Amino acid sequence: MIGKLTGHDDTIAAIATAPGVGAIAVIRLSGLKAIDITDILFPSRDLAAQPGHTLHFGGLHFQGRVVDEVVVSLFRAPKSYTGEDVVEISCHGSPYIQQQVMDALIATGARLARPGEFTQRAFLNGKLDLTQAESVADLIASNTAASHQTAMQQMRGGFSKELFALREQLIKFSALIELELDFSQEDVEFADRSALQQLVDQSLVEVEGLVHSFKVGNVIKNGVNTAIIGRPNAGKSTLLNTLLNENRAIVSDIAGTTRDTIEEVLNIGGILFRLIDTAGIRESSDTIESIGVQRSLEKMREAGIVIYLFDVSELTADDLLTQVRQFDQEGISYLLVGNKADILGFEEARAKFATFTNLILISARDHAHIDELRERLVNSVMGGAINTENTIITNVRHYAALQEVYAALLDVKKGMETRLPGDLLALDIRRALHYLADIAGEVTNEDRLDYIFSKFCIGK
Ligand code: GDP
Repeated sequence: MIGKLTGHDDTIAAIATAPGVGAIAVIRLSGLKAIDITDILFPSRDLAAQPGHTLHFGGLHFQGRVVDEVVVSLFRAPKSYTGEDVVEISCHGSPYIQQQVMDALIATGARLARPGEFTQRAFLNGKLDLTQAESVADLIASNTAASHQTAMQQMRGGFSKELFALREQLIKFSALIELELDFSQEDVEFADRSALQQLVDQSLVEVEGLVHSFKVGNVIKNGVNTAIIGRPNAGKSTLLNTLLNENRAIVSDIAGTTRDTIEEVLNIGGILFRLIDTAGIRESSDTIESIGVQRSLEKMREAGIVIYLFDVSELTADDLLTQVRQFDQEGISYLLVGNKADILGFEEARAKFATFTNLILISARDHAHIDELRERLVNSVMGGAINTENTIITNVRHYAALQEVYAALLDVKKGMETRLPGDLLALDIRRALHYLADIAGEVTNEDRLDYIFSKFCIGK
């Protein structure tokens, strides 16, 4: 059945390593003829007679000349990344040689792979489930330690295992309910209702945890927009420079961004903090504003977190209270940072703002307590409980499906409370199961698969 679904009797090829010059490059082939095609170009060894998981060194010949000396890695179906016969040709890394090898393969019967097609085949051949396949894309795109770890955890099946356990629970539940239905004439209650209630409650907690983890997952994957706001002369530029000196992320490494949209990015604890309106900060010493934040209101709404920086020797506790109320009213997440604590002394500054328990005192100029600020920044966006060992949802598709699962489970819970008949309960349970299966890719149609895999790069 899988073969029919894939319709993949052609052999695909692509350069698997990054474009440009490298010491070596890897060109990957997958499909029924992967080994035959390579054999034609590689006369020094009879590849068709070699076992899988072996390496072979020799010349790659095309149109009567040697293109390069290469190492051929053989993987025989089903023990390969795609589950098909796979050949990886390691050649020297010049773009010219890579292109020559590709030309030779295509002239000999391979076809250029579409983006994500290797991973798509791996999925269709049951080597990966959809969440694992999608995490391959995340893994390639990951640019911080935290996003790398999350993608890796998913690829190795952490999330899939959790979903599987949840499904087992629900299947057990629906089996019990349906058993009861079969005997409904006899008015028996096989299913211990209180145990079922517990099961649903437990599942609800688990799904809710996963749904909530999306916020954290999104932060890990995409970073968080950060605004430094405060009156003129509060020390915003000074703080910006202090942070940038030690934590500046290399912007060109960050996928999907351009220099225009991000001004500066900090990498703190593996989280990317994208600083917005840094130009505004740098000019702000000249602007005269009542409280220095009005103009920035729009920026603040855009931000995932606002650092409100103030001069502890200048601002009064009442001023700060006014500011805090405004943030609360606007629903803005903020961090209160009292700067120039060196002027008053940290102790006196603490006493002046004693009613604000969440305040961080620093001296941007002297680089004092900047570590504490960094730590609080990370905690505030990770909701305190960051542990990438836990499953974290980073994918919008999974998030949407989990919300459906949650809604269905909530209906089951309500149904049990109102003593809904078993057949109606079973419907809601099945709806929850349907969306769980959808996440793993079991009810996904081919168009949607093409869409998901098209977001990969070629060669994966
Ligand atoms: P901005 O207008 O908010 O960007 O403020 P600036 O960063 O330009 O700083 C305004 C003035 O405050 C400058 O003269 C800084 O040297 C000074 N300043 C900044 N941070 C500190 C600090 O931690 N302690 C002291 N004593 N002065 C600071």
